[in-house]
Amino acid sequence: MAPQPVDPGGLRCPGCGRRSKPAEDALVCSACRAPLSYLPPERAPARGQLTGKGVWRYAPLLPDVPPVTLGEGGTPLVESLRVGPRLSLDLAYKVEGCNPSGSFKDRGTTVLVSALAKAGYRVVADDSSGNAGAALATYAARAGLAARLYVPKEASPRKLAQIRALGAELRTIAGPRERCTEAVFEDCAREQDLAYASHTLSPFFLAGLTSLAYELAEEQDWRSPEHLIVPAGGGGLFLGLVYGFLRMAEWGWVSHVPQVHLVQPAACAPLARAFVRGSTHPLPVVPGQTVAEGTRIASPERGTEVLAALRTVGGEARAVEDAQILRALQRLACEEGLWVEPTSGLAVAGLELLATEGVLQSGERVVVVLTGSGLKSP
Ligand SMILES: [Zn+2]
Repeated sequence: MAPQPVDPGGLRCPGCGRRSKPAEDALVCSACRAPLSYLPPERAPARGQLTGKGVWRYAPLLPDVPPVTLGEGGTPLVESLRVGPRLSLDLAYKVEGCNPSGSFKDRGTTVLVSALAKAGYRVVADDSSGNAGAALATYAARAGLAARLYVPKEASPRKLAQIRALGAELRTIAGPRERCTEAVFEDCAREQDLAYASHTLSPFFLAGLTSLAYELAEEQDWRSPEHLIVPAGGGGLFLGLVYGFLRMAEWGWVSHVPQVHLVQPAACAPLARAFVRGSTHPLPVVPGQTVAEGTRIASPERGTEVLAALRTVGGEARAVEDAQILRALQRLACEEGLWVEPTSGLAVAGLELLATEGVLQSGERVVVVLTGSGLKSP
């Protein structure tokens, strides 16, 4: 058999495997319309090349763009004092609320805005009234770009305050949530210097999220935990962790890929319901109200990709009720001193559930990702 060529990394379709030109504004595969992924080179860069701290410490593993940065990443990994011992687990929390705009979305946004600034765009747009919108407004301001957010009419004014404070333009769109996405697409097709900075579709955003995997591995002396637990709406954070650890295992940087588990609110759980039924595609849901509003996404664009990745890493997907989320939040705050936004409570509620079920075994190393600051919560 002829030797396989070395994969230089770049944009690739997880749906059909097709390679794409490395365009900074690329979103979906031209053949099958699946959202593209960014993969770092197959040949491992030397770990000695890693310098600095935070997301851009891993620049050799990220797209080659001049960074627009606010010092994101390098967030605290806090050992559990009470919840872990109670569950007989070696437990730690990754506190992503310490990022500049208050959530993990900064990891994806720093890379995406860097790419779009390099491509010469002047205005960046997204459909988000939550953490992704706040992150885009933050990094656009940093880059000297204008930001425009398309938000549903019913978005809470409190959530929009951060976006507005950063000088972003808000376009309120009537009708169902999908109308916001359609409106961005329409305007981007019409306005030449307007880029769709989509936190769900962009491979550059996803690439930035892989930095969490590299950082977690390095700060634990290149040892993978047995389990990672994350909240999931679109599943981007989940995918970033899976892709990062898969690549590190291929390079021999870590001995194994952790089981990565995702948790959704019972009121909107298209991924968890599909997983439990053995479906390879997300199940359609009518989203109900939930305190975990950051994960209220009825049809995740990367849903099929997420379900495939769950099977690859032997992860579990669970749905939890709001009462469980609120109880978990309270325990986390009172027992550990960690105050996080309700969406992060999903992962903590999932931790308790997976421990009860015996998925997490006594003495195993578990890291729970706390996605956003409590200062964000209403
Ligand atoms: Zn494709």
